[in-house]
Amino acid sequence: MSQKMLVIGEARDGALRNVTFEAIAAARKISPNGEVVGILCGSDDVSNLGKEMIYYGADRVCTVQHDALATYTSDGYGQAVLSVIEEESPDGIVMGHTAIGKDLTPKLASKLESGLISDAVAVDHVGENVVFTRPIYSGKAFEKKMIADGLLFATIRPNNMKPLQRDDSRSGDVQSKQVDIKDVRTIIKDVLRKSTEGVDLSEANIVVAGGRGVKSAEGFEPLQQLADVLGAAVGASRGACDAEYCDYSLQIGQTGKVVTPDLYIACGISGAIQHLAGMSNSKVIVAINKDPEANIFNVADYGIVGDLFDVVPKLIEEFKQLKI
Ligand code: FAD
Repeated sequence: MSQKMLVIGEARDGALRNVTFEAIAAARKISPNGEVVGILCGSDDVSNLGKEMIYYGADRVCTVQHDALATYTSDGYGQAVLSVIEEESPDGIVMGHTAIGKDLTPKLASKLESGLISDAVAVDHVGENVVFTRPIYSGKAFEKKMIADGLLFATIRPNNMKPLQRDDSRSGDVQSKQVDIKDVRTIIKDVLRKSTEGVDLSEANIVVAGGRGVKSAEGFEPLQQLADVLGAAVGASRGACDAEYCDYSLQIGQTGKVVTPDLYIACGISGAIQHLAGMSNSKVIVAINKDPEANIFNVADYGIVGDLFDVVPKLIEEFKQLKI
């Protein structure tokens, strides 16, 4: 296959999000011999980030720099990306299934009258066709989907496709495009960051999550210590968020974030179906719960029946010994 693929990159705090590299790997898999073109938008010069995309497998990158692109709006980014799509005429477009990806891609797909496969966790070639795998029914089943005709457009779930090996010897053009962005109807007055500092929950390789069993905001402290030792992000059940033990930005589940880390450690979480919807595709699940009948043990690879306030400090000590 040698189709021309466009990858819409995403940056935060001056660095590309890992899912951008995963999207490049997906584009390369879709079109092993084709051209992979990155696109980056921002109000500052993002050419250094363009180079990063090339090191991770893009052949060249188009950047759009405009004051209207300081903060994401679907109006502003939509116009910038659409203009590049029209100029480049790609055969396919890939982006991360992030908050921005979920907002931007359906609007673009509708404007381009194309189909969109969202939240793909794998890409394969079946005969001549590119087939995407995506979870359905809150992760209880998977479906295989393809776009039979026209522009191939997909978002990929973070943490599911391995980025290509970084290669600093790769070179390619990073070209700035002039786009006339007008009539942006959304005015961003302020951006308030709710999530805690540290590892980004939706892209973390390890997540330590707490539920109502954590009992208080202070009860999250040992979980944060365990996360620090492991280089993990802290997440939570809605039970813990509703009880005001932590911020809703940490909520994992059907109405929260969907995570697929290599390791998910659930502490004092019962395993309600709505919580499982956000984490059951994690590669290894460890559950700590004092109720041996808790539903979380039905999805766990390793279960520890016990009081999390006894178990978590022991884990911290053990992991410290291992010097992870
Ligand atoms: P509980 O169900 O109260 O479980 C607490 C667990 O902690 C128990 O299993 C208990 O045995 C254990 N425990 C207590 N003390 C200790 C201790 N010291 N040591 C070890 N274990 C202990 N939930 C989500 O998580 N995410 C969502 O996105 C979500 N969306 C929802 C959407 C809808 C429309 C609805 C109706 C519900 C949604 N929920 C969601 C809520 C969900 O149904 C559950 O109520 C919630 O997940 C329960 O949270 P929990 O497991 O922390 O609390």
